[in-house]
Amino acid sequence: MTKMPPQYVSTTNACKLCKPLGASLAFRGVEGAVPFLHGSQGCATYMRRYIISHFNEPIDIASSSLGEKNAVYGGGANLKLGLKNVTEKYHPALIGIATTCLTETIGDDVKRLLFEYRQEFMQDGGPLLVQVSTPSYSGTHMEGFHAAVRALVEQLTKESAPNGTVNILPGFLSAADLRSLKEIACDCGLIATVLPDFSETLDGPALRDYPLIPEGGTKIKDIQAMSGAKATVEFGYTLPDQLSGGVHLEKTYKVPLHRLGMPVGIRETDRFFEVLSELSGKPVPEKYSMARGRLVDSLVDGHKYVFGKRAVVYGEEDLVIGLTSFLAEIGVQPVLCASGGTSGSFVKAIENAVTGFPVEMPRVHEGMDFHEIGELAAELKPDFFLGHSKGYPLARDLNIPLIRMGFPIHDRVGGQRLLHIGYHGAQQLFDLIANAMIMAKQDGSDVGYSYM
Ligand code: SF4
Repeated sequence: MTKMPPQYVSTTNACKLCKPLGASLAFRGVEGAVPFLHGSQGCATYMRRYIISHFNEPIDIASSSLGEKNAVYGGGANLKLGLKNVTEKYHPALIGIATTCLTETIGDDVKRLLFEYRQEFMQDGGPLLVQVSTPSYSGTHMEGFHAAVRALVEQLTKESAPNGTVNILPGFLSAADLRSLKEIACDCGLIATVLPDFSETLDGPALRDYPLIPEGGTKIKDIQAMSGAKATVEFGYTLPDQLSGGVHLEKTYKVPLHRLGMPVGIRETDRFFEVLSELSGKPVPEKYSMARGRLVDSLVDGHKYVFGKRAVVYGEEDLVIGLTSFLAEIGVQPVLCASGGTSGSFVKAIENAVTGFPVEMPRVHEGMDFHEIGELAAELKPDFFLGHSKGYPLARDLNIPLIRMGFPIHDRVGGQRLLHIGYHGAQQLFDLIANAMIMAKQDGSDVGYSYM
């Protein structure tokens, strides 16, 4: 008898988040901006909950608050009323409007609605309105993030005279990464426009009063002048051209584009510094060559703890590629690289990431969910998991450490302060991994070791 194929394919805990969530994060990285969801309250509440639990900071995400009636008759009236309320309450410089599954399904023409809104309510001025289409059923939070960055560049940047700056489009990094990126550019003698920059808006100091819009973020006038930059540096090997702000700046304003991987690990960080050196015309500052030297020394000291270990890495495609490259550098065998993203470039990028290092090509899967990751992990017998908090139940089942990286991290504090990039970031990653391996050995030993 022929075996019946499965009657359906289900997803169990997808290894990705919602598309407008990514857009909201990107909009939060612009000075004076309020993210606005054209959708139901529930969507905004879910996103706020996710973002707050990772960053431990409040985030206001406004919503057009659609109900059942709007699903039938359209959400135009609510969108306009919502924009009016947000303008009056927050006095924002910019409102970043992202659509949701509901408004994309009912087919609201947001562009036309915003045209009408401008005619009706903005004759005497008002905030800039930037709009992005982010139906979550067709992509990941990273695609929403990139789409929002692209929309900001497309809708705000104007023709500008050469200004000697450098655009950096870093993708979704931690707040600590963004601070480090700005410091690196400054130390290299470059004036950089980093877009987006939520290093302060989502990781600011304690304040006596809650500001409706927190200080910080990429200045709007700097985004408008990105066309005058001498180059754009954009991170992301899996970023498609249609979602790339760098490609738009190159095609529209002829700003040369340097597409790099996330500078995670020595090889990718070296590439990043080479480009910065080329753009500044200066050698790498001593502070960074010293950090690189210390990092190499620590790898020599600690290789015995990590060499030959096996890891499952999952999360956003470009972060997984960076982490895989770093693992290969330190002699860890990545056995599974998984992502919920479906860029089509993931496998090739992982192949490039491990080329030149003494490790085998790992299993690589796009569009994976945590059920499948769990099944494969049980078979592949890793020594540790590397990824965000959603892999915790799987690591716990296998009784192996989960080393938390990426987003979301909501069962530890400090996710926003994790440094992934540059030589300093690689140093922190190495120490984390080596110490996790030492701890696992101590915990699994009957004798216990005080010296390892
Ligand atoms: S309904 Fe769609 S847009 Fe709303 S939270 Fe869910 S996945 Fe995101």
